[in-house]
Amino acid sequence: MASLIGMDGRATLEETTDLPCSICLLDSRSQVRLRCGHAFCGACLKQCAAHDLASCPQCRAPHLLDPDVLRSKIDEYRKQYRQWREGGATGARGEVAAVTAPPAAKKLDGQCKETKDFRDYDAEHERKETVERHYRDMRTHQTVAFVKKMHAKYDFSEGKERCHMTVQECFRVLENYVDSSDPDVGLPNIVHMLQTAEAIRAAGHPDWFQLVGLIHDMGKIMYLWGCAEDGQVGTADGPQWALGGDTWVVGCALPSGDARPGVVYPQFSSLNPDARDPALNTPCGMYEPGCGIDNLLFAYGHDEYLYQMCTANGVKLPKAGFDMIRYHSAYPWHTGRMYDHLMKPEDHEALKWVLEFNTFDLYTKDEDNVIDVEKLWPYYQGLIDKYMPGKLKW
Ligand code: FE
Ligand code: FE
Repeated sequence: MASLIGMDGRATLEETTDLPCSICLLDSRSQVRLRCGHAFCGACLKQCAAHDLASCPQCRAPHLLDPDVLRSKIDEYRKQYRQWREGGATGARGEVAAVTAPPAAKKLDGQCKETKDFRDYDAEHERKETVERHYRDMRTHQTVAFVKKMHAKYDFSEGKERCHMTVQECFRVLENYVDSSDPDVGLPNIVHMLQTAEAIRAAGHPDWFQLVGLIHDMGKIMYLWGCAEDGQVGTADGPQWALGGDTWVVGCALPSGDARPGVVYPQFSSLNPDARDPALNTPCGMYEPGCGIDNLLFAYGHDEYLYQMCTANGVKLPKAGFDMIRYHSAYPWHTGRMYDHLMKPEDHEALKWVLEFNTFDLYTKDEDNVIDVEKLWPYYQGLIDKYMPGKLKW
C-alpha cells in the first residue's frame, strides 16, 4: 500500500512512489515538493538553505529551501485564505487587497540574499495572483454553453466511459495531480481526503458519510482527459478553472457585488458572456422559480463529475451523500444563499448535509495533522468494498 499512496510519493510524478530524497537517498516522511516538482526531505533542504543554496538542488530553479520558513508562510496563507473564504475578511466580497502580504520573512542563517528576492516563495503575492487568475478565468469561461459541452464530454450514458479503474487506482493516479494554487508544500490529495474522512469518523458520523469525506475530491481525476482550453490541466502551473474552485449556477444572474459570505470575486462576473444575455441575466434566468437545486446547471468541476460518476456506477450512497459530493464547492448556494428562490422545500435538507460536510472539508486542511495512510487504508478499503467495489467506470 505504501507504494500506492504513501506520503513519500507526494513528490514524484512517476509511477514509483517510494523514491527516496535525492540528496540523502533515504525515505522520508517529511518530504517537501518544490514548485519545480522536485522533492527532498526536510532535513536535507534545511542544510541546503544553511549553506546558502537558494535554488532547487536538482534543477536550480530558485526557491526558498528551509521547510520551517515555508511552513510558516503556508500557515499564514492558510489562515488568511480561511478568513477570506468564510467571509471574515472583505476579500470574500471580492476585495482582493484584503489578502495582505505577511510580515517580511526572517533571513535564514547564512542566507545572503534577502528573502524577498526569492521569486518563488515570496509567495503571498504569487498565490494571490494565482487564485485571482483562477477565478477570473473561471468566471470568464464557465458559460451555459461551456457547462453543457463538459456534460457531453464526461457523459456516462449508453455505456460511455473513459477508463476502468478501482478507487485505489484512482488515488494512485491522483498523486500526479498538483493543485495549481497550492503547489509547494500543499498536502497530497489523499492526505486531505483522509483528514476529512477521519474527522467525520471522529465526529461519530455514519460510514457512508466517512466514505464521502474520503472520495469527495476524486473528481479532479478529470485532469487525465483535460486540456488547457477547457481549464483542466493537472500541473502546478496548469489552468484548473474547470477542475476546482467555487461553483455557481450558470444560466441566471451571476454572483454580483452585493456583499455575501461565500461569494468570491464578484467583480469578475461581468467578464462572463452570459452576463450580457438579457434572458440569462435575471434572478431566475433560464430556470423556473422553485425548480429545485438538482435541476440547476452549476459551473463545471470535480463536484459534478464525481456525482455523475457515482451515479453511473450505482454507488450505494444515500441522497445526502450525493448532495455533499455534487455541491460541496457551491459556496454561493450553501453559504451565500443566492439561490433560495430556485430551491424546492426538500432542498433545505440537502443544504443541511452539505453545510455539515463543509465544516470537515474546510477545517481539516492542516499540514501538522499527520495521517498514517498505510495504517488507515484497510479501514477505508472496507468502506470502498461496501459501497463502490471493484473496477469502476470513470
Ligand atoms: Fe473539493
Ligand atoms: Fe476538499
